[in-house]
Amino acid sequence: MSIAVVGSKFKIEEPNNNKPEYIIIHHALAKHCTIDDIQRWHLELGWSGIGYHYFISKEGYIFEGRKEEQRGGHCKQGDMNSRSIGICLEGCYQEYKNQTDKDVPAKQLKALFNLTKHLQRKYNIPVSNVKRHHDFAPYKLCPGNYFPWEEFILTLQEENILPDIDKHWAKDNIYKVVAAGIMEGFPDGEFKPNLTVTRAELATVVANLLDIM
Ligand SMILES: [Zn+2]
Repeated sequence: MSIAVVGSKFKIEEPNNNKPEYIIIHHALAKHCTIDDIQRWHLELGWSGIGYHYFISKEGYIFEGRKEEQRGGHCKQGDMNSRSIGICLEGCYQEYKNQTDKDVPAKQLKALFNLTKHLQRKYNIPVSNVKRHHDFAPYKLCPGNYFPWEEFILTLQEENILPDIDKHWAKDNIYKVVAAGIMEGFPDGEFKPNLTVTRAELATVVANLLDIM
């Protein structure tokens, strides 16, 4: 299982000052839409372009919006636009006009799960910092009261972050270097502890070490 991300086709002028500590999940409030629709809607608001870092279609395709390091435009409360990654789901998982969807497609949930796990690993974000837009803006239901939030958080908690190192002799050391940002797992959720290291990978590890020293 891997994360297939379609790279951004938008040139968005925003400062590279985002330091992700949170992952914030939204819905589009539209039963059917594409990332191009969201780009257009946000441009019409006078923004620099799509406010989210990622958009996930109902079929489970992940599209890149803003770059992760760019300031977002999806949650102004708590200065979250420079402290989080914003992910938007196609769909309208609440009562709204004739748009209402009561079920989040399994493929979309799975893609959201994979992307969230990947971002948690990459930025060392605990499950407690995976939030709904609603948690910061209580006057909104976003990502909708029909989104199975409790179940989603439970699956994030249950799933071991790097399941393939569970019984490995070097497990504690692996967790330590991953948590410190010196090495990371593969996008498929595994660490592959017995793969050999190339010179390029070794250089990357040493460079990461130098960065934190
Ligand atoms: Zn929202």
